[in-house]
Amino acid sequence: MNTARRFDIDDSKANHEIMTALEDVKLFRNLAYINGKWVSGNRFKPVFNPANDEIIGYFTQLSSQQINHAVDSAQQAFTTWRQLQADQRAEYLLSWYQHILDAKQDLARLMVIEQGKTMAEALGEIEYGASFIRWFAEEARRSYGETIPSHIPNAQLSTLREPIGVAGLITPWNFPNAMITRKAAAAMAIGCSVVVKPASETPFSALALAELAERAGIPAGVFNIVTGNANTISHVFCQSDNVKALSFTGSTPVGKLLLSDAANTVKKCSMELGGNAPFIVLADMDIEQAAIAAADAKFQTSGQDCLAANRIFVPEKLYEPFIHHFKALVEAQVVGNGNHPSTTIGPLINQSAVEKAQQLLNDALIKGATIIAQSNATIATQTGGSFFPATLLTNVTTEMAVYREENFCPIAVVMPYSNLEQVIEMSNDTEYGLAAYVYGHDIHQIWQCLRGLEFGMVSVNSVKMTGHPIPFGGMKQSGLGREGSKHGFDEFSEIKYCCLGALPTASGS
Ligand code: NAP
Repeated sequence: MNTARRFDIDDSKANHEIMTALEDVKLFRNLAYINGKWVSGNRFKPVFNPANDEIIGYFTQLSSQQINHAVDSAQQAFTTWRQLQADQRAEYLLSWYQHILDAKQDLARLMVIEQGKTMAEALGEIEYGASFIRWFAEEARRSYGETIPSHIPNAQLSTLREPIGVAGLITPWNFPNAMITRKAAAAMAIGCSVVVKPASETPFSALALAELAERAGIPAGVFNIVTGNANTISHVFCQSDNVKALSFTGSTPVGKLLLSDAANTVKKCSMELGGNAPFIVLADMDIEQAAIAAADAKFQTSGQDCLAANRIFVPEKLYEPFIHHFKALVEAQVVGNGNHPSTTIGPLINQSAVEKAQQLLNDALIKGATIIAQSNATIATQTGGSFFPATLLTNVTTEMAVYREENFCPIAVVMPYSNLEQVIEMSNDTEYGLAAYVYGHDIHQIWQCLRGLEFGMVSVNSVKMTGHPIPFGGMKQSGLGREGSKHGFDEFSEIKYCCLGALPTASGS
């Protein structure tokens, strides 16, 4: 790699698409952001546009010394940031929030080029991501402790909620903005400083957030972004005594590695991991409406969503009509560059993701599954790109990888079921427990699902379930802890119990 390549902002050839797409080209940063400075490593790595395989820029690879320096700077910044009044921290965060909203068109354009999602999805993510900053800025003012009725004579008992310290945040590529803000806003609002490691496929969306944090005047060292080798960075986070909280969003296998590495320093770990969401259609549901909702829950972000409806369950007697409606919806999907207004399914993140999708499909077909429909239209404006068609599979069995694994691609699996007990059991038959959907009217059946499903989030008659006020998180191997809502503070704070006794007075009272 060309070690002299430092500011791709000057390299109009490599970044022509970005430079022409952005109104504010200074949002495109490629160096790491540490202690309020833009820092270069010795090596650089390319980032590709998944819609055409072209290099859109190079981001810097830091050494472990530089990452340690980022942690030390964050520790230094923590000592003053935590002392600010909640109102003062809130003002900084609200300024950051406003800068992000003002730049949302550019941030979305950058995300489309870097991540591949459609413009509508990207804009939605920027607003969703920003909403956490506003929420936690406001919530910081209400991070109350409590008073406890005393069991000790002449003592007053209470708790304080204190910021835990430096938080190391590791995030994925499928939501390159919101997975950062959902963690960072909670941590920073309560008084922590953060060091963020974004995914290597999508560093530029993260670095644009740092540029805006700088413009918002967030003090140096409070919000840092480090880029480079995942193992090197995560190992520094896990082994550092200064990093008091590790918050990870990504796959379950990597989450397990991090938990094991972090055990040595016994730090607070929160894990937002993979999902394998069931979508249960109840017998009294309008089948066309159910098909529309299921397609929506399956194909967002090209199926690369931890909340994607991975397994769609339909009562046996409604199976054929459901397939009829769902087939039409699959065929109507338009696969293409996220920049094109007609596109509904952007590219997968890279060629490996396409190969994985193809393997899942081959495995299912060999074992007897049938392709009932695929999307007809592909908008191929250029050659290349990691596209995969929306695909509907039937005759799927529970042994197939496409059913058992988080398939993370636009392959939809629809299965018949005979009764509610059976479908709840099938839904729970997975190591994952992130989200589940239920569509129908019968309140008794809905209640049975709400009680019986082993998932951290169950959404009835609504595809949209996430947002700043709700506790987002999973059960079982989908994770530990919750993000968003008032519970989001728990991952970045400690409860300190204070027992305030009274010394006896001279009179002995
Ligand atoms: P991933 O491969 O686990 O990567 C996530 C992050 O971990 C990236 O920053 C990655 O860095 C880093 N990483 C990868 N291997 C590592 C290792 N051996 N040691 C330390 N760090 C490592 O996941 P992904 O493919 O980016 O994201 C998809 C997964 O995230 C899916 O399973 C999805 O369900 C999950 N997800 C969960 C939620 C939720 O809220 N529960 C939300 C979104 C996504 P590099 O990019 O540099 O390799």
